Amino acid sequence: MKADLIIKNISNLVTIGEGKSPKRGQEMDNIEILENGYIIVKDGKFLEVGTGIIDLKHIGIKTIVKDGTGMTVTPGLIDPHTHLVHGGSRENEFAQKLQGVPYMDILNAGGGILSTVNSTKEATFEELYDKAKKSLDIMLSFGVTTVEAKSGYGLDLETEMKQLEVVKKLNEDHPIDLVSTYLGAHAVPPKYKSNPDKFVDEIIEGLPQIMESGLAEFCDVFCEEGVFSVEQTRKILNAAKELGFKIKIHADEIVTLGGAELAAELGAFSADHLMATSEHGIKQMAEKGVIADILPTTSFNLNKEYANARLMIEEGVAVALSTDYNPGSSPTENLQLAMQLGSLKLKMTPKEVISAVTINSAFSVDRGEEVGSITVGKKADFVVFDAPNLPYIMYHFGINHAKDVYKNGQQVVTEGKVLPMTKIPKIGSFIADCYGESKKIIQMNKINNK
Ligand SMILES: [Zn+2]
Repeated sequence: MKADLIIKNISNLVTIGEGKSPKRGQEMDNIEILENGYIIVKDGKFLEVGTGIIDLKHIGIKTIVKDGTGMTVTPGLIDPHTHLVHGGSRENEFAQKLQGVPYMDILNAGGGILSTVNSTKEATFEELYDKAKKSLDIMLSFGVTTVEAKSGYGLDLETEMKQLEVVKKLNEDHPIDLVSTYLGAHAVPPKYKSNPDKFVDEIIEGLPQIMESGLAEFCDVFCEEGVFSVEQTRKILNAAKELGFKIKIHADEIVTLGGAELAAELGAFSADHLMATSEHGIKQMAEKGVIADILPTTSFNLNKEYANARLMIEEGVAVALSTDYNPGSSPTENLQLAMQLGSLKLKMTPKEVISAVTINSAFSVDRGEEVGSITVGKKADFVVFDAPNLPYIMYHFGINHAKDVYKNGQQVVTEGKVLPMTKIPKIGSFIADCYGESKKIIQMNKINNK
């Protein structure tokens, strides 16, 4: 069979391995790296992965052949926790934060999350779309090919759905695949402060409408002291589960509340943050197979503690890493920075880090069957890093090592620059083959025609 694309002579081809399940505990440090490897892509998927010489039968007149000498190739990176769609930014609070003004004081003065809620309510669909698209382009340039995106800056059904509609449209238009999460329970609106249970009831009443709209696959709750209690979180997520939502929890970020234990009890795909999780909570997560999604750029930006990744790995938990991209606690789209902090601050090995942002993050957003490893049959999402080996990406920190990025076998970043959607060639056999999904092709051509 003639290939669409071949990358040969790859100095370090980090395939991860079979990629059939998350890497738990010590397995995270046990991944497949092929020297002098090659990748063969057909119809947007990996057709063959191996080392050495490529069989000439794969090379036809239309086959693109590239050389990976001196490069490290990994699966496309996956950012499993972002607050991608929101209005405004909060640099006006930056000086106050640096002077040590407590977050609660900023919040009580109408700042913090409430300021983002107001900006998001005021923003039009187009404004939210354009801002989020810009962020997705940055993520793509860093080698990120799948992103989870939460709502949560409306705190009313109408605005939450506006955010989710933006995610839907971007998923259609942008090369990055988006996984959509409803986070209506992100904060308690001021008018419910005296009766937060009423807000919990309203969230639950709105869940069927979100489910029927098809706009969200996951449901998430910010379980934290002063936000939603373990009991309130359980109530919302049990209702969500009954409707068919998959579950995530913002757990034990500041206070050891038992969010990790609740995630284990409910069978959540992931528990996220976990800076204050107890040893008991970690053991429960290991036992029930809940993925620990750690957000080191948030700890870095807030000058706070880091989650205990080493203990989690020792106890057999599968750890994922993400940016938590949001305008308050982690205003960065740079997943490579999260990876570097994963090594520097969480003391994870380079192999553990790459497992965290590929196969484990894939399973934490329920995409493990199709992405997260360079495995025959999976989507040909991969990154060519201008790095002689994997540790170099974590060691040489603060820069973007991604040279070329491929999504469904189609090159979407070249020499660190995102190929503008307007410049993607019109439908041809190669493009159609590579994308496979006609919906995306049509959307791209719509943009081409503008
Ligand atoms: Zn979050």
